[in-house]
Amino acid sequence: MDYYQILGVSKNASPEEIKKAYRSLSKEWHPDKHKGDKAAEEKYKQINRAYEALSDPKKKQAYDQFGNEDGPQFGGGGQNPFGGGGFSDIFETFFGGNRGGRSRDERGRDAEVAIEITLEESFHGITKTIRLRKFVACETCKGSGDAEGSSKVTCKTCGGTGQVVRTVQSFFGTLQQSTLCDACHGAGKVSEKPCNTCAGEGHVQGSEEISVEVPAGIDTDQRLRIRGKGEAGRHGAPAGDLYVEIAVKRDSRFERRGDDLLLEIAVPVTDAVLGEEATIKTFEDPVTLKIPAGTQPKQILRVKGKGMPVLNTSRRGDLYVTVNVEVPTRIGRDERKLWEELKKF
Ligand code: ZN
Repeated sequence: MDYYQILGVSKNASPEEIKKAYRSLSKEWHPDKHKGDKAAEEKYKQINRAYEALSDPKKKQAYDQFGNEDGPQFGGGGQNPFGGGGFSDIFETFFGGNRGGRSRDERGRDAEVAIEITLEESFHGITKTIRLRKFVACETCKGSGDAEGSSKVTCKTCGGTGQVVRTVQSFFGTLQQSTLCDACHGAGKVSEKPCNTCAGEGHVQGSEEISVEVPAGIDTDQRLRIRGKGEAGRHGAPAGDLYVEIAVKRDSRFERRGDDLLLEIAVPVTDAVLGEEATIKTFEDPVTLKIPAGTQPKQILRVKGKGMPVLNTSRRGDLYVTVNVEVPTRIGRDERKLWEELKKF
């Protein structure tokens, strides 16, 4: 049933032309003129139904979008979507909520990968190159899913709307539920002839080399998100995102606590008593640490701003140095004399 045909107007007819056609036809097929004629009565009903749909801009636009005279296929089986009082309900279902935002192929799935870096790499930041197995756009069809020389045609299952309405019996009565069309996955169009390489999906299993910029100061269990580097979507839909989960390996010298670095050093007991300067190797230039006279065993000395970079800032954590005082286990005779002298004080 084509409403334009019923009214005898073209698809480009103006509202005035539609109105004029309707007036003339409704006069011609009015039941008063065709008493007892069932076919004429049906014709009259059709004319009114067609006019109801085409005279309302919202309904007309929707009808135009269905693209074929049967309208979308409904779960109820051949039920006329425009009949009875269901008309506006269906349009609410179709266009309420997401006007103009018809679902299409959803973007590709997010991918996740874990990488391990050293503490030194975290300290400086590093670019890591990884190879990720994932769906990539099909090179044969450039993601379109169409065989060479063919194009997309309106999906027959949903008539191009991308959605099908199912009539569902529920506790609350009969509900009309709009769901994504299985045949075209909401795109409203399907390949006339699918691409052989990807079976019309537009993406294939492959792999991609990806540069991951790991920022300085990153810590274990933090994730980086790289937009558009996840799995390629179907039919050229945007790719998902890539999440890179970071694990920072234990370092043999430094322990990390948040943005601070902890280190233990050993100094001779004489240095602890008399004071000294110690040189500490770090991930950058060596740090000179002043060991004050009278430093106690396990005393912790703080070197401000020499810890880890604070992620996404120019700040730095601190370096905490625990001083272990070395007591000699074996001493020579001369040395022993000196210690004995000391004992007299
Ligand atoms: Zn392809």
